[in-house]
Amino acid sequence: MPSKNKRFNQKKVYVAPVKPEPQPLGERKTIEVPSIVSVIDLADIMKLPVTKVIATLMKNGVIANINETIDVETAMIIGDELNFEVIEKEETEEKSNIAKEVEIEEDLSKRISRPPVVTIMGHVDHGKTTLLDTIRKTSVAASESGGITQHIGAYQVSVPGENKKHRLITFLDTPGHEAFSAMRAHGAQITDIVVLVVAVNDGVKPQTVEAINHAKLANVPIIVALNKIDVPDTDPERVKKELSERDLLSEDWGGKVIMVPISAKKGQGVDHLLEMILLVADMKNLKTNPDKKATGVVIESHKQMGAGPLATMLINDGTLNQSDTVVIGNTYGKIRFMEDFRGKRIKTATASTPVRIAGLSDVPNFGELVVSVDSEKVARQMTQVKSAVRNPIGHIDVDSKEKNLNIILKTDVQGSLEAIKASIDQINTSDVKTNIINEGVGDITESDINLAETSKSMLIAFRTSIKPQVRQLAERKHVKISIYEIIYQLLDDLRASMTDLLEPERIEVELGVTKVLKIFLTQKSEQIIGVRVESGKLAIGNEIRIKRNDEQIGTAKITTLRREQSEVETILAGIECGMGIKSSTKVEEGDVLEAYQVEERIRTLEG
Ligand code: GDP
Repeated sequence: MPSKNKRFNQKKVYVAPVKPEPQPLGERKTIEVPSIVSVIDLADIMKLPVTKVIATLMKNGVIANINETIDVETAMIIGDELNFEVIEKEETEEKSNIAKEVEIEEDLSKRISRPPVVTIMGHVDHGKTTLLDTIRKTSVAASESGGITQHIGAYQVSVPGENKKHRLITFLDTPGHEAFSAMRAHGAQITDIVVLVVAVNDGVKPQTVEAINHAKLANVPIIVALNKIDVPDTDPERVKKELSERDLLSEDWGGKVIMVPISAKKGQGVDHLLEMILLVADMKNLKTNPDKKATGVVIESHKQMGAGPLATMLINDGTLNQSDTVVIGNTYGKIRFMEDFRGKRIKTATASTPVRIAGLSDVPNFGELVVSVDSEKVARQMTQVKSAVRNPIGHIDVDSKEKNLNIILKTDVQGSLEAIKASIDQINTSDVKTNIINEGVGDITESDINLAETSKSMLIAFRTSIKPQVRQLAERKHVKISIYEIIYQLLDDLRASMTDLLEPERIEVELGVTKVLKIFLTQKSEQIIGVRVESGKLAIGNEIRIKRNDEQIGTAKITTLRREQSEVETILAGIECGMGIKSSTKVEEGDVLEAYQVEERIRTLEG
């Protein structure tokens, strides 16, 4: 027999964790899927929202956006989860969206030449800036060059070609290594040709080697500009030898690499260099389809007072029109105005053209891809899908017992961002973890709000501000924004929000124990019995556990209590009384009845 104290101990009963999402019901459908299929095509075949397909892929550890492709084996795995029998489709005439896309690309009649995009690379002080300036001064018409007052990350020059036809070359004047990092990170196409500047009085140096490696990795052809030939007593042949040791063998040494001796400072050999660039461009057969909507890449961006976020994009393919809506990473916007590299307003821009656009809701990053779309609705859908892709797998994993609190964090400066992140890290517990979906320095923007909405995040800001229209957007979308001036208040509130995520603890509190002395009446689901209260207190309405030989055999509910002919509400320890109970279990003499009630307690964070 357990002691009284023990019996009255509180028993903790935790609510069962949320069950995994049930498998979709209904008949299992058989679908045919090609050996390689894009996510959007698969969603189309399954007739499911693309976000559902992306989420299921993520649950299985595959992060893919709508245009990425997966193989049929992966489609089978997620098909199984979504109640589809996936079988591999024999190649037929029918074409997927991607195939259709490729078909447009391959419609040669629509494709025309586009100017080459050139990046100038080389060791510091070897003359990159001087060369860019010389080219700009000599090849941009004098009337125009005077107008270039802005730096937009690239410019175009016009070079006389065959039959007096002028041809364009686009020069990127952002640092070359940045362009290559972006090409790797985003798969962006930023440059077609590298001009490697090597000062003949200095030779091959560490950054020369770095540039060679970048270009080789990206499979971009190199033209060498042997610069500073005006400096007396220099020997270009010695530099050619050094370059040959790096697998760059000059044409006159029997190799394939074009090397042009120049003096960037005096303008000597620069025209020949431009001719050689066009020659290499011709060998590359650079084409574009002007009928397509534009795609491109961000090469410069900043915020300008009065104009808002401005971004220069280099158009890779297609044509950009002033009325277009563009999606860049997680942000989008309808173009308000477009300018060319001279700062002149333009209405359309074609491939290889640098163009500055205004109308974005946020400042995009260097190297991010730009896609022009049909409408703001499509742009919104695309940014929502991209936001979903950003969600880490843990958040979507419905099997996980762990609670995640998603956060978007904006701060005034990088230092406070780091400090707050470190503090947030420390308040994570085994039950609830914070999950920083996005972070940044600066004001809260519309794209923060959109991301907060799609990722179901709290927006936490530290010493930053918010424009009225952005606040209105947040209100419309019911996105909670908390702005703080003091770190510990931020952390206190965060702790409170984390606590809110915890399921309340269900606790059964024992009220009293009785022993069954006699059975007076047994009906279908009701009994009248005589009991003695051993301990505690019992009342009408209490739930009861029926125990026989220390084992629970059923439950019941007290419907009436009677003492010496009169009805009572409660009875206390040491008293014998009559009790009416409702139960599907038949009680017998000698059974023990334990009355209890369930209380919900708010849990607190551990640690
Ligand atoms: P970057 O660091 O590669 O951009 O090099 P800069 O263009 O700033 O040039 C570094 C220095 O080399 C400057 O003092 C230039 O005037 C000088 N320089 C550049 N090109 C030539 C050239 O062809 N001949 C001579 N003599 N000096 C040059």
